[in-house]
Amino acid sequence: MERGPDGRRAVVRAGLLFGAAAAATAVSAALPVLGRERRLVDYPHAHWAPAAGSTCTASDRPSAHPIDRVVIHVTQETFADTIGIFQNPDKPVSAHYVVRSVDGRIAQCVRDRNIAWHAGNWHHNTRSIGIEHEGWVDRPRYFTAAMYEASAALTAHLCATYGIPGDRDHIIGHSEVPGADHTDPGPLWDWDRYLHLVNG
Ligand SMILES: [Zn+2]
Repeated sequence: MERGPDGRRAVVRAGLLFGAAAAATAVSAALPVLGRERRLVDYPHAHWAPAAGSTCTASDRPSAHPIDRVVIHVTQETFADTIGIFQNPDKPVSAHYVVRSVDGRIAQCVRDRNIAWHAGNWHHNTRSIGIEHEGWVDRPRYFTAAMYEASAALTAHLCATYGIPGDRDHIIGHSEVPGADHTDPGPLWDWDRYLHLVNG
């Protein structure tokens, strides 16, 4: 998130919120209509909660750009508010997937073939999949086993689908993106645990 192709930067150092008022679009409006919606997701265990078209860039990956990395984020927002922000056409931010803390539920907001605006670095946006995790970088209770397991299964699927090596050179934190001024996923994110699950 935080920077579109025009280089626009967000105000905050971590997370999604641009101001005091997060867009609280009712997430229920984005929940799937079974059958029809299921075909829109790239990951079969996700539900489709589409981001606004003005918050991402249409593309034809991996033909147009290789997909060779996964960028891990923590939202600094609730699951519902994160999706609401992505659905707000005035917020130039999106990610492909959002994982809910309590149960590992996964929303897909941007198709894999399209470029989500999540990394704060256009080069990285063009070649990555962005996964947001519900929580705050300094609140341990959000880093649940359910969230780790669901996210790792998603990342394992992405690695298998696009031939991404399941290592720390290719599965990186937002804070590790060159030029990033964000701190997520933060020191509470357990990389050893995550990589073990991804490669388990
Ligand atoms: Zn981030």
